[in-house]
Amino acid sequence: MIELIKGDITKITVDAIVNAANTSLLGGGGVDGAIHKAGGKAILEDCQKIRSKQGGCKVSEAVITTAGKLPAKFVIHTVGPVWNNGNNNEENLLAAAYLNSLRLASQNAIHTISFPNISTGIYRFPKDKAAQIAVQVVSDFLATTDTIEKVIFVCFDDENYTLYAKLLNQKDLYN
Ligand code: ADP
Repeated sequence: MIELIKGDITKITVDAIVNAANTSLLGGGGVDGAIHKAGGKAILEDCQKIRSKQGGCKVSEAVITTAGKLPAKFVIHTVGPVWNNGNNNEENLLAAAYLNSLRLASQNAIHTISFPNISTGIYRFPKDKAAQIAVQVVSDFLATTDTIEKVIFVCFDDENYTLYAKLLNQKDLYN
């Protein structure tokens, strides 16, 4: 099942929320900053443990930490690509960021997960293209999994919310 919400992902009660992190895993602006601020230092401590083991997180890969004080149980940190006019394989990298997050969720017995609009803020990925990729990867994955029951797209801005609503209606996925 796919749901669409306009709001702040740090307030959503699900098994896991996804963070649009950067490769350092040390926090940043946008949704990353909001998640670390609301979740508290336990998230950063887990990120630092991952850094000492594997030196951060590469673009399109995903790692999992505690969600600290957030209502979610886990945070899955993935790194979307920076948009560079579509010349650096950005579309495939964004699809892989969604897919690797979903795979990691399913490996951790996560049933409900919410995604922000990865790469569409500071990383400047065109919102319409990003929404199409996100909806395609998630709907394909839901058709193959028994573990993940619900995916919530959490849009922070009206433009993204409208794009997702249109796409989900077109595909008859919106409920
Ligand atoms: P990126 O660097 O991947 O572009 P950003 O955090 O800059 O990451 O933006 C990703 C998306 O997250 C943007 O659409 C932005 O509006 C949105 N966003 C920012 N804060 C929040 C929040 N608290 N909850 C949900 N989405 C948010």
